[in-house]
Amino acid sequence: MKSLVIVTEAGFGGALDAARAVGDAAAIVVGSRDLANAVAAAGVSGVRWVDAAAPAEAYTAAVIAAARDAGVRLLVSTTDPAGRVLSGACAAALGTPVVPNVVRLVADGHRLLVGRSMVNGGAVMTYEASGPVAAIYAGDDVEADAAGAAPITRLEAEPTTIRELGCQAAGESTGLADAARVVSFGRGVRAKGDVALVRGLADALAAEVACSMPVADDLGWLEKARYVGRSGQHIAPQLYLMLGIDGAPQHMEGVRDAKVVVAVNNNPEARVFRTADYGSSATSTRSSPPSSQPSSSSPISNE
Ligand SMILES: Cc1cc2nc3c(=O)[nH]c(=O)nc-3n(C[C@H](O)[C@H](O)[C@H](O)COP(=O)(O)OP(=O)(O)OC[C@H]3O[C@@H](n4cnc5c(N)ncnc54)[C@H](O)[C@@H]3O)c2cc1C
Repeated sequence: MKSLVIVTEAGFGGALDAARAVGDAAAIVVGSRDLANAVAAAGVSGVRWVDAAAPAEAYTAAVIAAARDAGVRLLVSTTDPAGRVLSGACAAALGTPVVPNVVRLVADGHRLLVGRSMVNGGAVMTYEASGPVAAIYAGDDVEADAAGAAPITRLEAEPTTIRELGCQAAGESTGLADAARVVSFGRGVRAKGDVALVRGLADALAAEVACSMPVADDLGWLEKARYVGRSGQHIAPQLYLMLGIDGAPQHMEGVRDAKVVVAVNNNPEARVFRTADYGSSATSTRSSPPSSQPSSSSPISNE
């Protein structure tokens, strides 16, 4: 049974050994002449060599052509990123299945059996391939024997190139990145009409307007580029004024570098008061709140 082993870097001994276990193994090497020489000496029947002047993935077309030309039953690659990309691309072009995590290949007459490691190496699932298959070898590497010197055929291959044509802002800048003051609001602002009040306050403070994720994502009251947090904007204003935002860690991550954080929230227990520098629980009627809870305009900490 014939196979073609795709080699893009050192550490190919295990994959070659596995391929040789089922019969004649040839190789396509995308890399240096030294790498091609090392593979040619390691007991393969022949080496097609692409002298790579660019990342190996840029020679996908040449590798597919070589795989098609070889007409083999089995393609084997190692688990390095280039090996996986090339093996997947060949499989897609040739219409063969890909089996990852392969640790064993067996030829049983005309049957090709492919052993795939499962459950973190705790079991090996054996598949029978009815036609050509691409195996990504993830078993142990072995020292490649210097068994001979197979012929090396150099392939002329141009890498696929990409070049920069220019860079444009994805949309209009929000100004949040450089803003000295930001007024941000959350779901505590109950009505869409009240967003105008927030904007009015922001104008009065010469501030940018921002929001929590659900305000942009779920309610659509501000554009997505204006929500702050782990999955949104990371900003560092001098003043971050939060209106009706609960202060979830995912939100606060986006203002870790803000100088002063001021929170307005009608729930004195809101999480935001654990991290804000100043806080106001707007509807609180406590005359003497516990020290851990904010009173109207109470400094929480001011480090
Ligand atoms: C993987 C992941 C990533 C996420 N990334 C982000 C992110 O990048 N940014 C982000 O913001 N969120 C993010 N979230 C969501 C986050 O966990 C919170 O759900 C979200 O921040 C809550 O938004 P909120 O504070 O506006 O709403 P709510 O949690 O509903 O809080 C509303 C607050 O308003 C207060 N309130 C209500 N009425 C008033 C009133 N009249 N006056 C004053 N206060 C009032 C309430 O007491 C409450 O504290 C993420 C979540 C996950 C799971």
